[in-house]
Amino acid sequence: MKILVLNSGSSTQKSALFELGSDPSDQPAPPLWEGKLEWDGDKETLAVKNANGKKFNAEAVVQPKDRRSSLAKMLQKLWQPPTQTIRDGSEIAVIGHRIVHGGPNLYQPTIVTPEVKQAIAEVSAIAPLHNKAGLQGIEIAEKLFPRKPQVAVFDTGFHRTMPPCAAVYPGPYEWFERGIRRYGFHGINHEYCAHRAARMLGHETSSLKIISCHLGNGCSLAAIDAGKSVDTTMGFTPLEGVMMGTRGGWVDPGILLHLMRADHASVDQLDDVLNRHSGLLGISGVSSDMRDVLEAAGKNNERAKLAFDIFVHRLQTGIAAMAASLGGVDAIVFTAGIGENSAEVRRATCARLGFLGVQIDEGKNSLAKPDVEISTSKSAVHVLVICAQEDWSIARECARLTRTM
Ligand code: AMP
Repeated sequence: MKILVLNSGSSTQKSALFELGSDPSDQPAPPLWEGKLEWDGDKETLAVKNANGKKFNAEAVVQPKDRRSSLAKMLQKLWQPPTQTIRDGSEIAVIGHRIVHGGPNLYQPTIVTPEVKQAIAEVSAIAPLHNKAGLQGIEIAEKLFPRKPQVAVFDTGFHRTMPPCAAVYPGPYEWFERGIRRYGFHGINHEYCAHRAARMLGHETSSLKIISCHLGNGCSLAAIDAGKSVDTTMGFTPLEGVMMGTRGGWVDPGILLHLMRADHASVDQLDDVLNRHSGLLGISGVSSDMRDVLEAAGKNNERAKLAFDIFVHRLQTGIAAMAASLGGVDAIVFTAGIGENSAEVRRATCARLGFLGVQIDEGKNSLAKPDVEISTSKSAVHVLVICAQEDWSIARECARLTRTM
């Protein structure tokens, strides 16, 4: 069956078409077609390619409200030359959506119904940037592919197994009763990486303690024991945890109180600072992209060097925290844009993890092409670089959920 996946981010909208059997294997299949929309202020870029290497690229100036029509235009490239891959929308069997936040009640992959849409909308109050984009994707897909089943897959779902000591904030207990708790994110890819790591090492997932480091625009670590998440660095929202492109991760909440009192900072100003002007961008002043930060650091830009050092320091302390939650570690996985591509980040991070028994082979690290192991044969911990497979994982969930329909 042909399965279309929509992966809506705050400033990107990715989409991919897969062909999967009703009982898909654990081996990721390459997409038949891929599209990506990216927004930077008023500038929009659209890139589409199909399996035959045919491409379509466009740039435009758009208003934010045009996002829906841009998404519809991108999806029409599925049946328009030069990237035509299907005759028309009727060939698509199911549409799968990555929904970032499932809140307290939504964690299993679920067929989208009006009630599910309502529940996703209610959680938007917690994750406004991401869940609204996910809902827009659902609405466009309903218009373009009427009567086709749609499936919501939640990034928070994998972390529902976290024990209460990891999930509950030590504020007043009423917070927890109101749903203010640690949820964790990137679960779709963390779960995939744990199974992929086990297969690469020739072990059962059930026998391994794994730390998965998802390092992309957003970054989070997960402590995975016997295939189940027992701790993670992101929390109630994707703001908590290690340093990211434009988000700082762990900061003292007292800073926010201080800014409110001293500068009369509004909620929107704090939201903007925390979500868009912190992290690599906030410290370096150069860019949120690790490649730009590394290039500037290489030219002795002091703030870019500091941004890199904080990024690595936070990663090291985060990995140590995850190792403590697991009571040991068999494998560390680097995944997503930075994790897969930056030998510098992996080298600097692992350099201080010798106390855990981590030892990487510098030759393998600098040439690493995922999926590959980069630790030495003497290392007590396997270190792996694994290609993130969020979209394929969503497609597989769609195939599993709809095979009996
Ligand atoms: P993702 O969210 O997984 O698409 O990751 C996007 C991020 O990956 C970008 O913002 C970059 O910071 C990072 N990235 C991609 N390629 C490289 C590279 N070769 N070296 C360092 N960082 C990279």
